[in-house]
Amino acid sequence: MDERINLYDLDYEELEAFLAGLGEPAFRARQLWTWLYRHYAADFESMSNLPKALRQKLAEVAPLDVLQPVSQMKSADGQTTKLLFQLGDGQLIETVRMDYEQRHTLCISTQAGCAMGCVFCATGQMGFFRHLSDGEIVAQVMHFARELSEDDLRVTNIVLMGMGEPLHNYDNTMAAIDRLTDHEGFNLGARRITLSSVGLVPAIRRFADEQRQVGLAVSLHAATDEERDRLIPINRRWKIGELMETLRYYIEKTGRQVTIEWALIAGENDTAEQAHRLGELLQGMLVHVNLIPLNPTAGYGGAPSSRARVAAFQQTLAGYGVSSTVRVRRGIDIQAGCGQLRDRTIQDRAQQLGLLGEEE
Ligand code: SAH
Ligand code: SF4
Repeated sequence: MDERINLYDLDYEELEAFLAGLGEPAFRARQLWTWLYRHYAADFESMSNLPKALRQKLAEVAPLDVLQPVSQMKSADGQTTKLLFQLGDGQLIETVRMDYEQRHTLCISTQAGCAMGCVFCATGQMGFFRHLSDGEIVAQVMHFARELSEDDLRVTNIVLMGMGEPLHNYDNTMAAIDRLTDHEGFNLGARRITLSSVGLVPAIRRFADEQRQVGLAVSLHAATDEERDRLIPINRRWKIGELMETLRYYIEKTGRQVTIEWALIAGENDTAEQAHRLGELLQGMLVHVNLIPLNPTAGYGGAPSSRARVAAFQQTLAGYGVSSTVRVRRGIDIQAGCGQLRDRTIQDRAQQLGLLGEEE
């Protein structure tokens, strides 16, 4: 049995208790917290104000290399980097770094795989392996914070749009957000974090009630239940009407605009009918629509909409006073578009490690 712990799993009080258990005074927790979340220390050797014996002990019981980088891919323009990490139990997750002028955005994972099974999504196609711990979510950020700091740069934004459904792993996701926004620690503004959800209704209500300053994006992708049932299985549980009601509740509670995500699939959800239905649904709401031509994936036959269809769709929405932006996912050439986090590397690696069944 592995007795080692992941220090990134501990909140401040838990870190104090952990150090007390090692016979250390309370002030050590502040020192260690600062090393972890202000200096993004990669190991204990660098922690010069901690006694040597403690550093050795920590290296034994709580090593910081909880994520092992397995492979890295960079987009042709060099602005997007995708990293495949192996977790302690062999699970594989991906994290994406996007550099754009003054912004350094990370797209992080909250689960290994995903249980929601959206038909067009590479992560959905691989199925669910397990939730990530809060520390495994945080460690992805620390890895890139460390890398950026070597060039005197900082993580400016985080999107929870990597592998997994963040609201299905609610407690660990929120614990990770708390850790990342701690003023005495990493201190990222909550408004710089966006959580993307497929639309788990009770969890969105809870999220609204907690009044976090974190932004919300919702993957709608269809404006009729018939269409959404086909693309997004969870719609059979919570219908569009109920989801929209919940989003209105969220907006009323938080006063914040919700981003609606829509992957445009040729002949499927890019029709004039879907555009009109969507306009009717969103009319008058505090929302903005992100239109993203589908990234083709191995397990789904759909194709991205033509430019003309995208433009027509956008125009129809505008007729209802609904604002939208057409986005092309960054890093398409390395399949680092969010929702495409499963490439040959991860498949080959997973096969090698026996994590996936036979490919059908
Ligand atoms: N589970 C969350 C967050 C991860 S997916 C969610 O579903 O919102 C991040 C975004 O990528 C979602 O909007 C998802 O619908 C979208 N996405 C997934 N696969 C895609 C694909 N093949 N092409 C375009 N967008 C995709
Ligand atoms: Fe899961 Fe989001 Fe992919 Fe759906 S789109 S399968 S919720 S990761």
